[in-house]
Amino acid sequence: MKEVIRHLPTKGVVLRYTNFNEADRMLTIFSPELGKISVLARGCRKAKSRFLAATELFCYGEYTLYRRGDFHIMTQANILDSFYEIRNDMDKLLYASYVINLTEEVVSPGQGDIHLFYLLLQTLSYFSYSDLDPELITHVFEIKLLDHIGYRPVLDKCIACGSNKGPYHFDIREGGLVCANCYNTNIIGNNIQMGTIKTIEYVLDMDMNRINVLKIPSSIKEELDTILKAYIEERIDKKLKSRKFIDDFKGKNRKR
Ligand SMILES: [Zn+2]
Repeated sequence: MKEVIRHLPTKGVVLRYTNFNEADRMLTIFSPELGKISVLARGCRKAKSRFLAATELFCYGEYTLYRRGDFHIMTQANILDSFYEIRNDMDKLLYASYVINLTEEVVSPGQGDIHLFYLLLQTLSYFSYSDLDPELITHVFEIKLLDHIGYRPVLDKCIACGSNKGPYHFDIREGGLVCANCYNTNIIGNNIQMGTIKTIEYVLDMDMNRINVLKIPSSIKEELDTILKAYIEERIDKKLKSRKFIDDFKGKNRKR
């Protein structure tokens, strides 16, 4: 029987690649309909390949694929946006790399996620085309991602006893605030100021387009950075290398 080859056009963003052989590349692409997929781009690193630009990190393209077992083979690629500007700025590159790594952690093969796909596209657009602080863009992405995957933090009351009297701590294991009484019993939780709580609440319900007018004071930004990092690591049960690169880079800049 003749093998049936189904050519499948899908949009996608390149989250990762591995070079192998002389000129081949295996990609991890996030497709809004197919979720996370492995895609072989044959010969894409040859000097005159039409595919090379479409197989770079962050590239948003329309890919024609056919399925071969548990991966796909790319037969055509049409770049919709390469988000090239991200590569010209060290800060943007570091934060955007972390954002695509985090996306890769939460998407699964075979499970499309149109909402997350458009959140990622918007985020990459802000990195590429705006002068907004890449750290701010990243924190907005993180907060919206947490909400989307079911880890919206409880911020209006103590998660243990229900008290709505501050001051509070933030319990990364339970994903919410704990009041002073409960904190004193268990001593689990990070410091959290009212301003940080309000900022997270605001971002949770903010339309992504409002990011232009979002201002976060530096004292809150630092606390937000610490809490989001700890909360995400707890949820995905992993420390991402790209997140560590950001800390190393920031540490080096501070010492200078
Ligand atoms: Zn309590």
